[in-house]
Amino acid sequence: MIKRVCVFCASSKKSPAPYLEDASRLGKILAENKTEIVYGGGSVGLMGALADSVLRNNGEITGIIPDFMVEMEWAHPGVKRMEIVSSMHERKRRMVENTDAVIALPGGSGTFEELLEVITLKRLGKYVNPIIIVNISGFYDPLVALFNRCISDQLMDSRHLDMWQVISDSGQVIKAINNANQWSHNALQFAAV
Ligand code: AMP
Repeated sequence: MIKRVCVFCASSKKSPAPYLEDASRLGKILAENKTEIVYGGGSVGLMGALADSVLRNNGEITGIIPDFMVEMEWAHPGVKRMEIVSSMHERKRRMVENTDAVIALPGGSGTFEELLEVITLKRLGKYVNPIIIVNISGFYDPLVALFNRCISDQLMDSRHLDMWQVISDSGQVIKAINNANQWSHNALQFAAV
């Protein structure tokens, strides 16, 4: 049972249509699966498309947003469960708390930071659940290539590749979460390459 997942995704109002469509699809899939979504609370870009789709499909969604963004009127007005926090750090911590998986759609520097933080936590055994990277139109190919470079340069252990699953669209998300490799709190055993 996948009860609660965190989704990281773009806030850009100029996000390409295929990415917006995939964010809508993800919202519908998770709503139909009765999975609660925790996201950054925004109303535009992929965040807005995701939230609108969850609301249309009578799903459950919780936004976690810093107070300064609320003052900028960036919070989604239709999301009733909106948790206002005082910093970006607190937002990231709260977003992944008690989640059964983390999903990353395309995004900019904010999304990369969020994704890379949770991968780092997993490397250290502080987050153990699946991390799903939705690689629409090969968006994440350069990041995957960079991780492979880290491994060939012996900056990361090849066992760290088990930390995330890369899928080509959100249609595969439930299967990817259910089939993800197990990870352990003892991941520090991999600390030395
Ligand atoms: P990015 O992937 O760079 O678009 O970053 C997404 C992250 O940017 C979110 O998690 C927020 O931290 C922040 N952000 C930037 N603009 C907005 C906005 N209009 N509404 C909500 N969050 C935003």
